[in-house]
Amino acid sequence: MDFGFTQEELDFRKEVEDFVKGELPLDWDDRAVCWPGSYGTMPQMELEFQAVTRDFNRKLGEKGWHGLGWPKEYGGQNSAMKAAIAGDVLSYYRAPAGGVAATISAPTILLVGSEALKREFLPKIAGGEAGFWLAYSEPNAGSDLASIKTRAVDDGDHFIINGQKIWSSGAHVTEYAWAIVKTDSDAPRHKSATLIIIPNDTPGVTIKPIINICGNHSFNEVFFDDVRVPKKNVVGEVNAGFYNVMLALQFERLAIGSGAFKRVLDELIQFANETVRNGRPLSENPQVRRKLTTMAIEIEVFYSFYWQSAWMQDRGQVPELEASALKLFFTELGVKLANTAVDVLGPYGLLDKGSNWAPFGGRVGMGYLDSISGPIGAGTSEIQKNIIATRGLGLPRER
Ligand SMILES: Cc1cc2nc3c(=O)[nH]c(=O)nc-3n(C[C@H](O)[C@H](O)[C@H](O)COP(=O)(O)OP(=O)(O)OC[C@H]3O[C@@H](n4cnc5c(N)ncnc54)[C@H](O)[C@@H]3O)c2cc1C
Repeated sequence: MDFGFTQEELDFRKEVEDFVKGELPLDWDDRAVCWPGSYGTMPQMELEFQAVTRDFNRKLGEKGWHGLGWPKEYGGQNSAMKAAIAGDVLSYYRAPAGGVAATISAPTILLVGSEALKREFLPKIAGGEAGFWLAYSEPNAGSDLASIKTRAVDDGDHFIINGQKIWSSGAHVTEYAWAIVKTDSDAPRHKSATLIIIPNDTPGVTIKPIINICGNHSFNEVFFDDVRVPKKNVVGEVNAGFYNVMLALQFERLAIGSGAFKRVLDELIQFANETVRNGRPLSENPQVRRKLTTMAIEIEVFYSFYWQSAWMQDRGQVPELEASALKLFFTELGVKLANTAVDVLGPYGLLDKGSNWAPFGGRVGMGYLDSISGPIGAGTSEIQKNIIATRGLGLPRER
C-alpha cells in the first residue's frame, strides 16, 4: 500500500507553505498563543488579532483556498485532500484561518441549502468576507440539543425569533449566526427545529462577552428579542434542523488544525535537545524520551484518521463515524500533549505569556488550561463514544 502524496499535492503543500510564511506578520508566532485541539485560544476569535485575521483570510480568498473541497461550479477545486493539506500547513504555522463559515456552514449549504442560499453566501465565504458562529447551545441545552427553547414563530415570509444562546464562540467577531431554533413545539422533538442564518446586525440581537479560563474573550451569550429573519435564510427544510445540524457537526468534527500538533512536538523536541538539566541534555532523560516518543506515535495515528477522512470525501463517502473518532482522538490528544509539554518544561511550563522565563511565549501554560475545552466543545467525548458505539459497533442505544 502506498500512502504517499502525488507530485501535485506536494507542490501544492509547498505553495501554501510559501504563502503562509510570506503573509503572516514576522512576530506572529510570539503573539498567537493557541493550543492544538482546543477552542479557547484561537487567534481568529480575539479582537486584538482581527486586523491580521481579516487581511489573511481575504488573501486566502484571493487564492481560492477557502473552498478547495467545494465543487468547481461554486469556485472550488473539488479536492478534500487539498483542503486537508492546506489545513495541515495553515495550522502548523498557527495561521488565523479555518473558521466556521468555510469549514462547517459552506459544506452544509452545498449539501442541503437552496440554490439562492448558495448564490448568496458561498461567494462571500469564498472571499473570506462572511464569518459565522454556531448558535446551538442554550443554558439548558448542550448534548441534548432537542431541549432548545429559542423559538421561531411564522410571520409570513419571515420568522420572529426569541430566546438565548450560550457558549457562542466568536459571535463578537463574525457576521452571521448559524442557528438552530424551535419552529414546531407540537412536533416530535427531532422534527421540531430549523437551521437558519441570522445576520448579527438584525435589530434585537444582543451579544455579551463571557471570558474563558485562559482570560480570553472567546465565548458569548447571545439574546434574540423579536428578531425578524427572512425565510429564505432557512438552511435545508423547515423542521429538519436537527438532521442538518448533525450534518454540520460532522463537518465541524473533521475541521481540525492537524499541523498544530506536529508543531508543538517539533518545538518540544528542539527544547529537549537544547536544554541542559542536572548537567545533561534533557533529551537524554529516559522519561522525557518516552513521553515524546509516545506523542510522536499518537500524532501519526491521528494523521492516519485525518488523511483517511479527506480520502473518503474525495470518493463521495461520508466520514460520519470517522468524524466522531477523529474528534474524540484529536481533542484528547490535545490534553495529553499539554500534559507532556508541562512534564518536559517543568515549572517553566506553568508561566504566563508575560514572563521572560516562559518558553514558547507562555503557550504551554495557556494550552494546559485550554486543552480541557477540546473534549467538551463540538460534542463531548462521551457523546462521540456513544456515536461510535451505536453506529460503528452496532451496540444498542442507552436507555
Ligand atoms: C470551548 C467551547 C466552545 C464552545 N463553543 C460553542 C459554540 O460556538 N456554539 C455552541 O452552540 N456551543 C458551544 N459550546 C458548547 C458545547 O457544544 C457544549 O458544552 C457541549 O455540547 C456539552 O453540552 P453541555 O455543556 O450542556 O453539557 P451536558 O450536555 O449537560 O453534559 C454534561 C456531561 O454529561 C455528559 N453527557 C451528556 N449526555 C450524555 C449521554 N447521552 N451519554 C453519556 N454522557 C452524557 C457529557 O459528556 C458531559 O460530560 C462550546 C463549548 C466549549 C467548551
